[in-house]
Amino acid sequence: NVQEKSCSGCGVKLQTQDKEKAGYVPKSALAKDRIICQRCFKITHYSEVSPVELTDEDYLRILHSIGDSRALVVKIVDMFDFNGSWITGIQRFVGNNPILVVGNKVDLLPKNMNLNRMKNWLQHSVKEMGLKPLDVLFCSAEKGMLIEELLQTIDHYRKKQNVYIVGATNVGKTTLINQILKKVGVQDNELLTASRFPGTTLDLIEIPFEDGSALYDTPGIINRHQMAHYISTEELKTVSPSKPIKPKVFQLDEQQTLFFGGLSRLDFVQGDHQSFVCYVSNLVTIHRTKLEKADELYSNHLGGLLSPPGENQLSTWPKMKKHSFKIKAEPTDIVFSGLGWVTLKGSGAYVEAHAPEGVTVTVRKALI
Ligand code: GDP
Repeated sequence: NVQEKSCSGCGVKLQTQDKEKAGYVPKSALAKDRIICQRCFKITHYSEVSPVELTDEDYLRILHSIGDSRALVVKIVDMFDFNGSWITGIQRFVGNNPILVVGNKVDLLPKNMNLNRMKNWLQHSVKEMGLKPLDVLFCSAEKGMLIEELLQTIDHYRKKQNVYIVGATNVGKTTLINQILKKVGVQDNELLTASRFPGTTLDLIEIPFEDGSALYDTPGIINRHQMAHYISTEELKTVSPSKPIKPKVFQLDEQQTLFFGGLSRLDFVQGDHQSFVCYVSNLVTIHRTKLEKADELYSNHLGGLLSPPGENQLSTWPKMKKHSFKIKAEPTDIVFSGLGWVTLKGSGAYVEAHAPEGVTVTVRKALI
């Protein structure tokens, strides 16, 4: 019965009646074991968001078997999308094994970042998520920054045991593995072997250490609440920064609104005049308007003035969902998963954030 099934991609309830509505799937696709809705089908087939896809069961099996052996677990997160790239439950799965947390993509953060402050922030946030790592560190896999330090730390803590790299898709695991290969001087991949993970059909990349243990790259799990799963590849290029973010500052009065393209919107409903510091890709255009005009602007200009999404994406563009926050009088980020965040410096406010249904919006202690 189609009514009881949900999409294996995004979790939406499936239906076969209305092509225009969420969860549509052609009747012919219902016979498959793993059914995904038409929208997810398009996302997976026309974008490069998630090169390795595996079922949740496979992934859990991998995590469990890590917990069954003695190993060092290196968990990678994306510093531009900390919340979106966080995998929950890792501590439970890895058992008593020690964990290192690595914040990747630091090259995207504004140039004047203070790494010590950011380390405190990461330690604090990781603890809040219920994880007790040995240490937290940073790197940029893409730019090859801090890789040496990372390798030394891994070597120090692994105590001659295996190392498992874990993380959500898109956090940069593949890029990091390639950097590691470069640094350890693996020529023409002769040391590289693929080993089949017990109980799954997955091949893991295995990089042997001299002492007989090895470093394993596990496939990433897909976090479905990230913006990346709702937009096309082309638009993803606009949304995901490739250069250091230049923060944009808006001095706002209450009853003003900021639009981030047409991807999301932040209403400053109530509070004292204050600055809203926006950390989003330099390619995302921010529009300021009066709150009372915002609904009209959105319905008339989505796909045009307010883009992404582009015109051709509108038919599958999800509805906006509203999230309300009472911001305390302390520096706080309002985070749109995968898009970026807005920092309020700490005079308190009541705000309403609008994001596509399925994309999470959270508040956190300010990162910067
Ligand atoms: P995986 O899915 O975890 O294996 O992630 P990939 O290694 O495929 O990387 C996902 C995307 O993030 C790619 O577009 C990479 O170019 C990009 N990326 C990876 N590491 C970094 C980094 O340190 N800085 C930046 N700016 N981009 C990165």
